[in-house]
Amino acid sequence: MASIFEMIIAGEIPAEFIHRDKEVVAFRDINPVAPVHVLVVPTKPIPTIDDVTDADIPVVGRMYAVARDIARSEGVAEQGYRLVMNCRDHGGQEVPHLHLHLIGGRQLGPMVGSCVDPD
Ligand code: AMP
Repeated sequence: MASIFEMIIAGEIPAEFIHRDKEVVAFRDINPVAPVHVLVVPTKPIPTIDDVTDADIPVVGRMYAVARDIARSEGVAEQGYRLVMNCRDHGGQEVPHLHLHLIGGRQLGPMVGSCVDPD
């Protein structure tokens, strides 16, 4: 079954696109955790970073380059931002289609804070 991101890429579900090319798209997260929260997504439906093959390495690099460019165009590059990629259940991944979260526009808490044992 197609993931929600595949449906967004196919235009079946609306999203606010910021970037679109043959290999990589980017759109605003529907539930932003900061003033800038953009998802950078390969058009190829790779489920997780663990599923990336050596042949996919260039597209993963392109995801980071697109994120860098969007951080600049969104005006957060100078003050800084965070790039996050979750992997599977323990990583908190909800959508099984590879994606990078670009989060910025405010001071973020320490990364380890969000990794504390929930019990
Ligand atoms: P993750 O937990 O790393 O898999 O992140 C999935 C992200 O996708 C979450 O931050 C959701 O808010 C976001 N999301 C889910 N559905 C949509 C949608 N239709 N449009 C934009 N973002 C979405």
